[in-house]
Amino acid sequence: MSNARYQELARQQKKSEGVLTIASLPRLQEALSELGVTDDQALAKVSVVYQLQGLPPRYFGDAQLPMLGLAVQTNLPLICQRCFAPMPQFLDVQFEFAVCDEPPEALLEDEDVDWLESSAESAFESLVEDELLMALPIAVMHEETCAPLQKTAGEKPNPFAALKNLKLDK
Ligand SMILES: [Zn+2]
Repeated sequence: MSNARYQELARQQKKSEGVLTIASLPRLQEALSELGVTDDQALAKVSVVYQLQGLPPRYFGDAQLPMLGLAVQTNLPLICQRCFAPMPQFLDVQFEFAVCDEPPEALLEDEDVDWLESSAESAFESLVEDELLMALPIAVMHEETCAPLQKTAGEKPNPFAALKNLKLDK
């Protein structure tokens, strides 16, 4: 999708929907493989659904910029990193971004609003990827059964913390 298309969507307050496959999101695929998701068939089934919605333009400093809201949903075939059982996770993220070539200072400082450069062809996929990567869990594990095992195996517990736990157990 081109920048002109974004501008038009924003100006006309229109909505546009689409689906991305994992093939167009290589960084997401890499992050998934780091989480142990290497099943090609499962990965091929991952689809990322998005809805773009034109929003009223907003001022950042002196610059008035076209704004878009983006909602992204995907179901990721995550697996528990300890017992390797499937732990599919549904992600639903929403964010807003401004369309511009040179973001004004006020936009860069605004933590709630991203910006999309018009020139790069892959910018949109990259933006979706960024948001999904931020929403992705760092470690995937069954909280009740697998995570506590990991803790005791991994790090030496503080003796005082251990005492405290003993008292709580009784
Ligand atoms: Zn598990």
